Amino acid sequence: MLLAILLSALAMTVIVGVRYLLVSGAFAAATRWRYPGLYGGLDPQIRREVLWSLASAAIYGVPAGVLAWGWQNRGWTRVYSDVHAYPIWWLPVSVLVYLLAHDTWFYWTHRWMHWPRPFRLAHAVHHASRPPTAWAAMAFHPIEALSGAVAIPLLVLLIPIHVGALGFVLAVMTVMGVTNHMGWEIFPRFMWAGPLGGWLITASHHQRHHEQYGCNYGLYFRHWDRLCGTDRGIGDFARSHERARARAAHRGGGNAGRGDAGDARRRGADRAA
Ligand SMILES: [Zn+2]
Ligand SMILES: [Zn+2]
Repeated sequence: MLLAILLSALAMTVIVGVRYLLVSGAFAAATRWRYPGLYGGLDPQIRREVLWSLASAAIYGVPAGVLAWGWQNRGWTRVYSDVHAYPIWWLPVSVLVYLLAHDTWFYWTHRWMHWPRPFRLAHAVHHASRPPTAWAAMAFHPIEALSGAVAIPLLVLLIPIHVGALGFVLAVMTVMGVTNHMGWEIFPRFMWAGPLGGWLITASHHQRHHEQYGCNYGLYFRHWDRLCGTDRGIGDFARSHERARARAAHRGGGNAGRGDAGDARRRGADRAA
């Protein structure tokens, strides 16, 4: 039994790690295509981001693996696989409940980690990425990773969710974690500007957290930030893209040329936006 639990924990660690490498790698490749040179000169930082993220994969993977074993063998969790075990309307509502609960957990633990002592201890690692890249999605100190890793396992013990809906929640978590740190906005304008954008968090909102620190703490939604007066609106990427151009110019040669191609494309995109 112990061996089975260990194997499940190991398997889940590998799954979380590979998922991270595939998703972050895909969005990093999209960045290279869309804004060549944006991550230029950031190789040492990216190496750090990947190493911290792979360490986090184990911290996320072990509790998830233990719970997956308990779900299969002991009926520990409230995860169900028969769609009709609960009313159909619960499928979308459970997704929303999970996202709202996870967002609440994240907002308050994140605010705590911005107190001076917890910041130095647990959160400085994440903010060492300046500017963050698609690889920073799970670049957390183990203490921060642990605070993040318990959220979904606690929820599956308490709130019923269909296994497919849980998969959707995890996909949203993964994609938003990566895209929020990518250094540019991939989502259509209505998701980050206008009435809906006033309540949703995408890269434009989280970018400002990484620039100014004491604001924009949320994960998916802006209501906690707005309620608590910590919302400072959405940022833009002009300054970090300017710095990427400066790094390219500093290195000179071929990289600067590639940067120029990206800039031209970016200016076109900005006009379109
Ligand atoms: Zn922070
Ligand atoms: Zn961040």
